[in-house]
Amino acid sequence: MAFTLIEVKTGRAVRVSLKPGFFSQALNSPFVQQRKAGVPPQDIPAAVADPLIEKVLSLPEENFLAIGAIVQLELPKRKGVFEAEPCAKCGELTFVDKLQETAVGRVCIPCAG
Ligand SMILES: [Zn+2]
Repeated sequence: MAFTLIEVKTGRAVRVSLKPGFFSQALNSPFVQQRKAGVPPQDIPAAVADPLIEKVLSLPEENFLAIGAIVQLELPKRKGVFEAEPCAKCGELTFVDKLQETAVGRVCIPCAG
């Protein structure tokens, strides 16, 4: 489980991943056991969830995170899209760059299937 954090202004980026040992341990936690059994996160008792949160907050980051070197990324400069049109099928107002051309007209992504 990894993600890349990017400072958009400067393009500085760093890859952060969960250390495998920590990740597999987390998957065996009582919290995940209950999630596996179908309990929604908000219904898991604080007595189960809180100690896990406390533990992560108190762990030194090197104990559970692998933090890569800082690299420089070239970010594509994209203009914001501020134009929207209703989907030809469901009528949902959709940003024009997300509309797809179909036989019935320009439709949103879910309608395009
Ligand atoms: Zn639609």
